[in-house]
Amino acid sequence: MAVAPLYKTQELKIYNSISGNKEIFTPITEGNIGMYVCGPTVYSNVHLGNCRTFISFDLIYRYLKHLGYKVRYVRNITDAGHLENDADEGEDKVSKKARIEQLEPMEIVQRYTLDFHNILTKFNNLPPSIEPTATGHIIEQIEITKTIIDNGFAYEANGSVYFDVKKFNETNNYGKLSGRNLEDMIANTRELTAQSDKKNPQDFALWKKAEPEHIMRWPSPWSDGFPGWHLECTVMSTKYLGEQFDIHGGGMDLKFPHHECEIAQGEAACGKTPVNYWMHANMLTLDGKKMSKSTGNILSPAEIFNGESDKLNKDFAPTVARFFMLQAHYRSILDFSNDALEASEKGFYRLMDAIQSLDTLKTGKTTEGFDTEKWIRECYDAMNDDFNSPILIAKLFEAVKFINTVKENKAIVSTSDYRLIRETMHAFVFDVLGLVNVNEASSDISDKLSGAVELLINLRKEARANKDFATSDKIRDELQEIGIQLKDGREGTSFTLN
Ligand code: AMP
Ligand code: ZN
Repeated sequence: MAVAPLYKTQELKIYNSISGNKEIFTPITEGNIGMYVCGPTVYSNVHLGNCRTFISFDLIYRYLKHLGYKVRYVRNITDAGHLENDADEGEDKVSKKARIEQLEPMEIVQRYTLDFHNILTKFNNLPPSIEPTATGHIIEQIEITKTIIDNGFAYEANGSVYFDVKKFNETNNYGKLSGRNLEDMIANTRELTAQSDKKNPQDFALWKKAEPEHIMRWPSPWSDGFPGWHLECTVMSTKYLGEQFDIHGGGMDLKFPHHECEIAQGEAACGKTPVNYWMHANMLTLDGKKMSKSTGNILSPAEIFNGESDKLNKDFAPTVARFFMLQAHYRSILDFSNDALEASEKGFYRLMDAIQSLDTLKTGKTTEGFDTEKWIRECYDAMNDDFNSPILIAKLFEAVKFINTVKENKAIVSTSDYRLIRETMHAFVFDVLGLVNVNEASSDISDKLSGAVELLINLRKEARANKDFATSDKIRDELQEIGIQLKDGREGTSFTLN
């Protein structure tokens, strides 16, 4: 008999940003979930703040899958249309970088998409099911713009097309996600500048006519131009998940205007509100301020991995940084500091040591000092309560404490409880939290190995300088035999393990 999926026995609650309440999660189609998360704008390397948001949604994706749901997870790549200033002004972020670096915009896109993937792989994020790009969906963006015009919610002006927010608000509610009210917004905004084509400052672009110097442009019924930033997400979510789908996520800073505009576009085009559960991940801060590319208040993932930053005393494994982030709930602000990361590292290795100990734990007839069933229930309760990973981690540490007492022969675990504890620990630590077991000892060994090879490289260099080629070749060849290959380059000698 097939085992029933876990979701049948678990009641998952999700904090829905649009209602401001934790709601029982019910997908549109039983057993299936459509989830869309706004991806990065690929014009520069991702910073640790961006990574936090994608790790938060990776946790959510992993838990939904763990519960047995079939999840279609769509996360886009913004490779056109995101202007420097969110209010439809300024240069396209990708084009600007291409101009400065004298590269094709698509070279910029390729470079930073690769960086994004590479970094998220280091953090052990699972890839989404579909990763569509804005430039790959220009036709669909033109089509939906026509529909919104036909439905009376957008107008053309000088080759650009704008969404008519005032008109929309007569029949719908613009501001329901961000809790804003159009009248207040109007009262608090300055008059439009003379050169603006918008009827009202709240209107936003669906299509923008390209200035002659704008490199990224496509033909359309209105002008050679490019789509507005908010439109791509409406188009790609609708195309791959339908006009109405279950979960839409992104960082808190995208709530307004980006997500508010997505709701307006969806309702204006399809007559339906597009999303059932809106989820917003909170920010990573540095010295109490939001990590942000524009202010330069950032740490890069590379700095964490190599420790080369004046904010850090040492380097940290990607999985330790991931653990640090998951020790905070995704809706709480998390402040980054070296001390906090060092504390997480200690906890992480304690957790990994206990998991290692589990493999050799002696079992007895009964269990004393631990209620396994209650503990498992509480682990699920934590995650069912809006993906509360810090509470889950606290629960995992209760098991760590018990495992260590059994190891010291101060408590007993029955064989059946042992199996349950081991299975549950593995499921939550590796499948749900997505941690990787890097052992402190093995990372220590690899540091020492690198040091030893560097020493041999220096000895070989000295031998060569003394024209002692017999010794220098011997070092190279014997290292090669044990699987360490030296590579001479302009910047000196490096090595790889075969
Ligand atoms: P962007 O590439 O700027 O569009 O950002 C990609 C994602 O990172 C968005 O979901 C942002 O909300 C998110 N993000 C940006 N800064 C931070 C931060 N400091 N902490 C957490 N998430 C952030
Ligand atoms: Zn988006």
